[in-house]
Amino acid sequence: MTYSVWRQCGRKRRYRDEHTANMYRKMFERERGKKLDYYWCNYCNGFHLTSKVSPLVDISMVSAVAQ
Ligand SMILES: [Zn+2]
Repeated sequence: MTYSVWRQCGRKRRYRDEHTANMYRKMFERERGKKLDYYWCNYCNGFHLTSKVSPLVDISMVSAVAQ
């Protein structure tokens, strides 16, 4: 799934360490009322938050399947 990760990277907020990512994860979980997760990004050497229920999906792949 690395192809999706680097595409998302530029649009996502970057957290410099795990502690910070975890702190924001908890905050957003309370705010949005759903479970979030964080992952290490090799592309920018930071952490990003992601939704657990909807995994990263490459949109061009989805439209290719739909045809
Ligand atoms: Zn990144």
